[in-house]
Amino acid sequence: MTPALAPYAADESRSRGRRHEEPAPAHRGEYQRDRDRIIHSTAFRRLVYKTQVFVNHEGDLYRTRLTHSLEVSQIGRSVACALDLNEALTEAICLAHDLGHTPFGHAGQDELNARMRDFGGFEHNLQSLRVVDELEAKYAEFPGLNLMFETREGILKHCSASNARKFGDVGERFLRRGQPGLEAQIANIADAVAYNNHDVDDGFRAGLLTLAQLREQPLFGDQLAEVRRLYPDLEDRRLIYEVIRRMIGKVVNDLISTTQANLETSGVQSIDDVRKSGQPLVVMSDGVYAQHVALKKFLNRHLYRHEKKLEMTRRAQTIIRELFELYTSDAGQMPEEFAQQAEDQDEVGRARVVADYIAGMTDRYAIARHEEHTGKKAGGL
Ligand code: MG
Repeated sequence: MTPALAPYAADESRSRGRRHEEPAPAHRGEYQRDRDRIIHSTAFRRLVYKTQVFVNHEGDLYRTRLTHSLEVSQIGRSVACALDLNEALTEAICLAHDLGHTPFGHAGQDELNARMRDFGGFEHNLQSLRVVDELEAKYAEFPGLNLMFETREGILKHCSASNARKFGDVGERFLRRGQPGLEAQIANIADAVAYNNHDVDDGFRAGLLTLAQLREQPLFGDQLAEVRRLYPDLEDRRLIYEVIRRMIGKVVNDLISTTQANLETSGVQSIDDVRKSGQPLVVMSDGVYAQHVALKKFLNRHLYRHEKKLEMTRRAQTIIRELFELYTSDAGQMPEEFAQQAEDQDEVGRARVVADYIAGMTDRYAIARHEEHTGKKAGGL
């Protein structure tokens, strides 16, 4: 039994539908079908071998893009349920949000974008939409996964005006500066909440962050003081988990109550009212948001730009750069299906095929291909 949806939730009976018409599913909802298609996609399975922050083989306990996506989905679904919004749609968007990510996390994305500068650029968020709209080849009657409009709207988080024109329906909101539905807004924030918290955990485990540093962060420090007061003898490992679970709880509870109040005062009555609002309606209170942003900045300074991370970044960039140069100068080095696609294209089209191929690679596949082509060991990556 599906609980009643709030009037401003996404409701499949009033959806803007799929690009290619299909018969309604027999035993599940339309957004459940989207979620199921995402889970069965090739791109989703590859997330298990893609870097979140730490390269996959640095340790078995670190988050990968797959476990990150599952954590985003868990947080997103909790928030959606608490607000009587569409849980299945929220889950679908959360699970799909990183499908377009390159190997080696942001290091890979930035390098591929630099290589694609003269050919239309590369952005993982646009690539996620490209994966579900075009690149997945699983169905006889249409390209991609043929997802519902609201799922696609949620996947396309940001977009320049020139790209927005190319995307048609899902691009419109960027031209008129509107918002996506509430489920998409939840997925967006759940992403930030998930990585802020799990990166503290992974950074601590990697020995790149210390308790002394983390204590200075109000979001962490307040919870740490409370846990120490309640459990003075707790060992560090359990202490960290207890603090993190309380941090997630604090932010999520704040997000739910602030958004609930916001929805009441805004007077929105439908998803179209939500789309017309000038600002996102799913928000944290000012105080908690300030703490959340402070932690994000702290991680940026002390974890993402840690010397050990930067060394990994440089190696990853070399791999992506050299693969890109190799395949653009000799498309025949790519597997048959990509080589064929590249064949009749101009320079711009060929570069896009190469970017699609590289972006789809897992970390270890990129390392193996690079080693095979160049004879260079990725050593230590
Ligand atoms: Mg993410």
